[in-house]
Amino acid sequence: MIISVASGKGGTGKTLVATSLARSLKDSNKVMLLDCDVEEPNDHVFIKPTIIGSEPVHIMVPAVAEDKCTYCGKCAEVCAYKAIAVLANHVLTFPQLCHGCGACSYLCPEKAISEEPREMGVVEWGHSDGVGFVHGILTVGEAMAPPVIRKVKEYANHDGLIIIDVPPGTSCPVVEAVKGSDFCLLVTEPTPFGLNDLALAVETVRELYIPCGVVLNRAGVGDAGVEEYCRKENIPILLTIPLDTEIARLYSRGIALVDGMPQWKSSFRQLFDSIKELVDERNRSIKR
Ligand code: SF4
Ligand code: SF4
Repeated sequence: MIISVASGKGGTGKTLVATSLARSLKDSNKVMLLDCDVEEPNDHVFIKPTIIGSEPVHIMVPAVAEDKCTYCGKCAEVCAYKAIAVLANHVLTFPQLCHGCGACSYLCPEKAISEEPREMGVVEWGHSDGVGFVHGILTVGEAMAPPVIRKVKEYANHDGLIIIDVPPGTSCPVVEAVKGSDFCLLVTEPTPFGLNDLALAVETVRELYIPCGVVLNRAGVGDAGVEEYCRKENIPILLTIPLDTEIARLYSRGIALVDGMPQWKSSFRQLFDSIKELVDERNRSIKR
C-alpha cells in the first residue's frame, strides 16, 4: 500500500505525521519512508537514518551542433517550455527551463541536436531502526523538482507499506509525488488559511482519483471551518492532534512525535487501520 502525506500549505505538520506514522507501524509492517519534499527534505532530521548509498539525478538537455543546423526554427517551435530559441544564425538553449522531453532532438530535420546529461540533484537511501528510507535533494537554484521526485520513487520497495512525504502546495511536484498512491492523508490546521489550502489540495487529489482523509493538526486554535468543510465534502477527519507545547518542543528539537511521546503510537496505528478500511471499501466498490 502507498500512503502519501500531503498538505496544501507548508508548515502544517506533514513531516510530523509522515515520520510518526512510519515509526509507529515499523514493528507490524515492512515500512519504507520516501521524502519527496526534495526542495527542503527534513524527514532525516527526525528519523536519523544511516545513509548507505546515493545517486545523482540527471535530465537530458539538448546540445546543438551548429555546423549541421540550418536555423529552420523547428526545435523552438516544438519546445513547450521555451527552453530553446533560434536566432538568424545562432541557437540558444536554456538548460534550466528544459524538461528533458527530447522533442527537439527527435524532430530536428538535420539531426543537429544531441542530448547531454545535466545534474539536478541527488537521491540518498538508507535505513533507520527498521524503517527503509529514501530522500531526494534538489540542487539549490534548480527549479524542477519532478525528475528528482521520480527518481526517489524508483527506489521504493513495493513489498510493504510505502509512506510518501509530499512537497507542500498543489503544483506539478505534488502531482508527481502523489500519483500512484492508494490513499492521501491531507494534513491541515483549523484556520482560514488551512481551510483555503486544504480545499485546493482536495481538488488536486480528486482529479487524480485518489481517496483522501484529513489529519487536523494544532487543534484548539482557529475556528470550525475545516470541520464544517470536511462534513460538507464527506471527507473523514482521521486524526486530531492538539496544539501542545510539548509536541512543538519535540518538533523543534528534531524528535519524532512518537519517539518523544510514545503514547501517540496507538493513535497512529488506529489512523493506519482507518486508512486500510477506507482503501478496502473503495476497492470493493470499484469491483462491484
Ligand atoms: S530544428 Fe535542428 S536544424 Fe532546425 S534550428 Fe533547430 S537545431 Fe537547427
Ligand atoms: S528537450 Fe524538450 S523541453 Fe528541453 S529544449 Fe528540447 S523540446 Fe524543450
